[in-house]
Amino acid sequence: MRRYRFAKIVATLGPSSNTYEKIAELFKAGVDSFRLNFSHGSHEDHQQIYEHIRKAEKEFDRPIGIIADLQGPKLRIGKLKDQDVFLKTGEKFVLDKNDEDGDETRAFLPHPELFEALNVGDELLIFDGKIRLNIEAVTQEKIETTVAYGGRLTSFKGVNVPKISLPLTALTDKDKRDMAFALDLGVDWVALSFVQRPEDIIEAKNLIDGRAKIITKLEKPSIVKHLDKLIELSDGIMIARGDLGVEIPAQDVPPLQKMIVRAAREQGKPVIVATQMLDSMVRAPPPTRAEASDVANAIYEGADAVMLSEETAAGNYPMESVEMMDKIITSVEKDEVYRAIMHAFGVDNRHTEPDAITLSASSAAKSIEARAIVTYTTSGGTAVTAARQRPTAPILGITGDIRTARYLSLVWGVHSVHTHDARTFDEMIDIACHVAYEQEFAKQEESIVIIAGTPFGTKGATNVLRIAQVEDRHTQKQAA
Ligand code: PGA
Ligand code: MN
Repeated sequence: MRRYRFAKIVATLGPSSNTYEKIAELFKAGVDSFRLNFSHGSHEDHQQIYEHIRKAEKEFDRPIGIIADLQGPKLRIGKLKDQDVFLKTGEKFVLDKNDEDGDETRAFLPHPELFEALNVGDELLIFDGKIRLNIEAVTQEKIETTVAYGGRLTSFKGVNVPKISLPLTALTDKDKRDMAFALDLGVDWVALSFVQRPEDIIEAKNLIDGRAKIITKLEKPSIVKHLDKLIELSDGIMIARGDLGVEIPAQDVPPLQKMIVRAAREQGKPVIVATQMLDSMVRAPPPTRAEASDVANAIYEGADAVMLSEETAAGNYPMESVEMMDKIITSVEKDEVYRAIMHAFGVDNRHTEPDAITLSASSAAKSIEARAIVTYTTSGGTAVTAARQRPTAPILGITGDIRTARYLSLVWGVHSVHTHDARTFDEMIDIACHVAYEQEFAKQEESIVIIAGTPFGTKGATNVLRIAQVEDRHTQKQAA
C-alpha cells in the first residue's frame, strides 16, 4: 500500500476517533502518524489507543509513527463556582492563591512562579487570548488586573504570559510520569510543549536516553533567540500555532512559520505545521477557502507534515478532514509551480559525502525518470538526508529496524519499509529492486536509483550510487 504524495499527515486522536475501526479508517484515508495528546485522557486510554494503532500497523503491513505529546508547563486558572462567568471589559479581576472556586471577580491561579515573575503593566491572556487582562498591582498573594477584553470564562482555562520567559522547567512532574509511561508503551516520538531554552531539550533528552525521537514544539516567542540551537538539539519540530498565535500577534505567525520551516529544512529536520488548519471542519464538512489555502501554503513551503488536532480528536468530521487534507496536498504537489516555490524556500548544499550522494541521486533520478530513490538505512539518517533535497522521485527507506521505519513515516517523501538486513552489496541491490516492485513503485524494466555505503554495513557512510532495473526475478515473491 503506497501513497501518491510526498508531504505527510499527522492526526490527533481523541473521543471522535479512538476506536480501532476509526483509527484504521483514518489510516486508510491518509494519516501517516498519529498524535496522542497527554493533556487529555488517562494512561489506560492511551494504552488502548496505542494498541489499536499497532494492530492497524499489522493489518495494513505499514509502519505507523506514534507521537506522545506532553502537556508541558501549561498554565491554567482554577475551578469556577458556576459553569461559566462573564468578565466585563473595564471591570477589575483578581488572580490569587486562594484555592476556593472563582467567580466574576476572582479566580485561583495555582502557579506561584507567576506572582514572582509578573509586573505591573504586563499582560495576561486567558482562554487562548480571548480574554485579556492588564496587570495593575502584584503582591505575594494576588495579582490585580483590569479586564482589557472581556468575555465568557469557564473553569481551568489556559493562561498565557507572552513577553515573559518564565522560570519553569519544560517537564512538569505529570510530564515525567506521562513520558515514562509513553516510553514503556514504545512510542516513536515524544513532543515537548512550551520549550523555552536549549536546556529544556537537553533535560528531556537525558531522560529519554535514545528510546524515542524528540519533537520540539515551538509555541513561545522566546524560541526565536535560540532557533537554530533548538532545531539542532531536536529530531523534529512542530510549529504549534495554537499557543504561538496567542503569545505573538496573529499577523506575526505567517512570517515566523516560514522562517521556522526554512530553518528546519536547512538542518534537514522534519517540520510539522500544526493547529487550526481545517478548524471549521470540526463543525461542518467543507473547509473555508482560507483553511484550504493555509494547508496548501504549508505544502508550498516544503513542510514535511501538516497536522490535524481538534478536527480529528473531537470534531464531527474526522474522516472528511483527513480526506480533505490529502486532496489539498495532492493538488499542490501537482501544481507546476510547486517545485519552484518550494525550492525558493530551499536549502544550501552541504559538503558531506551523504549530502553529495543524495544530491546526485536526486539529479540522476530526475534525469532518467527513475521510479524511486532507494536508501538502506539503519538509523534513518540517509533517508532524511535524501528528503532534504526534496527530490522529484519518492524515497524508499529500507531498514532492518522497525523503530526507524516508524519514525520515517513523518518525513517528507519517504516510504519506509521494514525488512531484514542484506548481507552483501548484490543482495542489497536485489532487495531494493524487489521492494520497489512489491511496494508498487517500479514495474518490470523500470529503473531505481540506489544509494548505500561501503564497506557494506559501515554506519553513517553513504558513498555509492547505483542505478538498477527491476528484472523478472525481482517480481517473484521469494526474491527477498
Ligand atoms: P497543543 O499544541 O494542542 O498541545 O496546545 C499545539 C499548539 O499549541 O498549537
Ligand atoms: Mn500548545
